[in-house]
Amino acid sequence: MSAPLLLRTPPPYEDESLAGYLIRLAQSNYYSSPNWILRLAGLQVSKGITLWAQPPIPSPLSQLIKLTDEHLKLMASLPHQLGKEVNPVRYIIYKYARKLCPNCLLESAYCRKIWDWKLVGVCCLHQCLLITSCAGCQKNIRWARATVTRCRCGFDFRNQSSESASLEQINLSLYLSKLGNYISTNQLESGIVVKENVHSTLS
Ligand SMILES: [Zn+2]
Ligand SMILES: [Zn+2]
Repeated sequence: MSAPLLLRTPPPYEDESLAGYLIRLAQSNYYSSPNWILRLAGLQVSKGITLWAQPPIPSPLSQLIKLTDEHLKLMASLPHQLGKEVNPVRYIIYKYARKLCPNCLLESAYCRKIWDWKLVGVCCLHQCLLITSCAGCQKNIRWARATVTRCRCGFDFRNQSSESASLEQINLSLYLSKLGNYISTNQLESGIVVKENVHSTLS
């Protein structure tokens, strides 16, 4: 029996997280939850996903979503995990795509990989704290949701306001972004008001 295929596989963004991409895929294919994508690939959410850059044969997940295993591993890896070419990444998917910047989502509705980094609590592009709970139902944001931009209660995260971040927090986030090459200096300078001293972090 051949592996199942998804009807729609929009290409991932360069800085998109794997957890967030699976939500977007579920959304594009009219599934009620990204759990379905994992089930089709024979994976269990609770056990996490073991990602190898080069398994002997393409993994069912990579075949299903039409990306190479190397690409999957890259989408799942944070900077400190890269470079471990031999070791697989154990990816506990439900722990990710739970921190969001409402302003980034307004600009483009996908989950940025940098939000999945534990150390990152701030969006340095919008200089605000990332949100971790929903203003509609007050519950923590969860990975298993039907769309990237909406909570399970139906509230649209793009309508949620976020608190301003301190200069120290922005600088740390900028430093980490640069470390992970998640943003370019051009992106930072395009129409975004950067607070005093922030530029010095980039130089
Ligand atoms: Zn943002
Ligand atoms: Zn909610």
